[in-house]
Amino acid sequence: MGALQVIGDPVRHSKSPRIQGAMLAHLGVDLPYTAHTVPKGGLPQYLEWAKAHHIVGFNATMPHKEDLLPLLDQISPEALACQAVNTVCRRAGQWVGFNTDGAGCVCALEHHGLWQGGTVVVLGAGGAAKAVALQLSQAGAQRVWVCNRTLEKAQALAQADCRGVLAPAPFTPEGVAQRCAGASLLVNCTNLGMEGCPGEFSDFSFLDALPPQAGVMDLIYHPSRTQLLTQARRRGLATLNGLPMLIYQAVLALEHFLGRPLDRPALAAAAQQALEGDV
Ligand code: NAP
Repeated sequence: MGALQVIGDPVRHSKSPRIQGAMLAHLGVDLPYTAHTVPKGGLPQYLEWAKAHHIVGFNATMPHKEDLLPLLDQISPEALACQAVNTVCRRAGQWVGFNTDGAGCVCALEHHGLWQGGTVVVLGAGGAAKAVALQLSQAGAQRVWVCNRTLEKAQALAQADCRGVLAPAPFTPEGVAQRCAGASLLVNCTNLGMEGCPGEFSDFSFLDALPPQAGVMDLIYHPSRTQLLTQARRRGLATLNGLPMLIYQAVLALEHFLGRPLDRPALAAAAQQALEGDV
């Protein structure tokens, strides 16, 4: 009998036990999934402990996503490309790392009808933006503009894309507006507008440059409707918050844990139901 976990610090607030618990129950799979605090620097000890305690897989959140890379036996191409791991499986005595954040975002966009290919504007170049922008390139976007306050980080991210689809751009109202003209989608991967974060967009005029059929996704789900999404809806644009991405990255992680394809929409619905009233 094995077990699954999510590790991080802090991890108490994590929705993963609720989401995974609901999906495992839906499947009738009897595997406990619990949250486990692992402080920064504690990964080597955790991996030993997990091996001894029959942990068959775990999810990783802050501050471990990057630190796991040198400690695992195998890393998937997606995790390698964005240099971050959020899902680890024990397979034939080896730790194998994956990253389901980017694919979770694309699944959410597809499920909600916001994925049209073409040109995408990504705001931010941090951990989430890396996973999302690289996956959008992989999913067939023609151009992904990475607009970031620290331009060097956007440049480094663009260089990590072997397809040459990603391109850096400045995070200024004019710089973003220029890239929005002709874009099918804008994805906010910055912290701006997140509950508990001091920052907010100073100007939403870049939304006016998006074509009327474009979509706007915010990775933030606290609050459930950010100022960015409110402003986008006022302009008649289709919007999506970060909750479906959170759910789909968990669905894809569960596929790795169980080693088989699953009915993704059915599991996403089970997770959504479990979270109802929670966010
Ligand atoms: P991160 O690595 O710290 O990156 C933060 C990004 O935001 C950087 O690009 C940073 O720009 C930018 N930024 C921060 N403050 C800014 C400001 N005042 N003005 C302009 N840009 C600013 O964080 P992360 O892990 O990528 O997470 C980003 C967001 O995505 C968070 O809100 C997080 O909750 C959300 N997220 C959601 C999911 C989901 O499943 N829905 C998954 C992962 C993350 P610089 O590079 O210039 O500092």
